[in-house]
Amino acid sequence: MRKILISTAIVFAIAANVGIGNANEVLTNTDLQMTVLKQVLDLMNEEFDSTKPLPKIVDVTTLSNDYFMDTWGFEVIFKETPVNHYHWTDNTIALQPNADIDNLAHEYTHYVQDHYQGYDFADKSDPYALDYTETEAITIQNNFK
Ligand SMILES: [Zn+2]
Repeated sequence: MRKILISTAIVFAIAANVGIGNANEVLTNTDLQMTVLKQVLDLMNEEFDSTKPLPKIVDVTTLSNDYFMDTWGFEVIFKETPVNHYHWTDNTIALQPNADIDNLAHEYTHYVQDHYQGYDFADKSDPYALDYTETEAITIQNNFK
């Protein structure tokens, strides 16, 4: 518990430095992104492993419909309402232009589930596992609000 409180305090300090009105630093500041990832790992009791590939972080509105079809097969959904999400097929975190740190933390949780904890997001046979991964992501995200 003490560890979580310390991490949360650091996040608030970072949030105060995120620029408003300019390019969204959640999308562009790699130092900020790495700090958030390490805090997410800490909350998930995982150690940072520099040998694991980092996810690409992109503005979801810059992705083409072909990309969505190729990676998810959800062209229509994302065309109408682009949402924050983690693509396990190509290790990409796609965020809305106005995404905040907590949104990044949510998607990093899915990245850690995939790359550190061995969840297979392609396997839909266990709905409880999918529920768990989303519940955990929301729980981690709430530490950053
Ligand atoms: Zn999620």
